[in-house]
Amino acid sequence: MDIPITIVAGYLGAGKTTLINRVLNHAGDLSGLAILVNDFGDINIDATLVRENAEDDQVFELSNGCVCCTIQDDFSASLEALQKRSLKQVLFEASGVASPAKLRAQCTYPGFYPTRIFVLLDATQYARQKEDKYICHLVQQQTREADVLVITKGPIEAVSDTLESAAEICHVDDQNLFYDLLSTQQRAAPALTASEISTEFLTTTLAQNTPVPLEDLEQWLVKLPEWISRIKGFVLTDRGTRLIQGTGQYRELTEHDNAQTVSDIHQVVLITAQTHQADKLNALSASWPGK
Ligand SMILES: [Zn+2]
Repeated sequence: MDIPITIVAGYLGAGKTTLINRVLNHAGDLSGLAILVNDFGDINIDATLVRENAEDDQVFELSNGCVCCTIQDDFSASLEALQKRSLKQVLFEASGVASPAKLRAQCTYPGFYPTRIFVLLDATQYARQKEDKYICHLVQQQTREADVLVITKGPIEAVSDTLESAAEICHVDDQNLFYDLLSTQQRAAPALTASEISTEFLTTTLAQNTPVPLEDLEQWLVKLPEWISRIKGFVLTDRGTRLIQGTGQYRELTEHDNAQTVSDIHQVVLITAQTHQADKLNALSASWPGK
């Protein structure tokens, strides 16, 4: 029996991990499910977050690149490894820069088939992203290649604006508004040809050596420029671990646990689509208070 793969895609910070965690929380029996998490950065923050809602051995990480363009071989190797387990289903969290159509092609792999592809659009960012000269092609491509669009975040007006704006470019015409992410009944739509759009990204990882006063961290975050497309990670502060999540102008710090010592999880990833900012990105790393 072929194993269905459900793909959750969408731009950096669209809420893919949050959605997956909610589904895992409410799904009941998770036996036979594997969750594959592709993080574009070289540490896999999303996999760490997903592990909090699933068994350790159900979560598989693919880091340091995007499955659809730079680490295809790693993906094939993961599928080969998954095939040896008695699985019923795979949930695949794509990297934020992935082309859904390319992923669909890759999930059409011996022993596997893709179900519907869910693409998340962040209602608070979509209008800006769709016009942003660095990422508009990628964001529009992701919209166009979706089987199901999931509008996340934002007040209801932003959600309906996003839906209207996305409708101009997507092919989603199904009248059913609600889908079960874990339903394996529906296979992906016939393959669309993936367009060859390449959006380059720069990424850097900030390692932590010493705990940071929470105030210093907050000040550093406030000064973080808007061209940082995505920031995420864990930081040990003098008041315990904080999870940083940020996209566009939006930055958030939430309490995570009360760890006292710096460990492997305390790292932060920065991603930008503005590749000419390499020098400034280095300067930002140098100003990181946790080093
Ligand atoms: Zn890719």
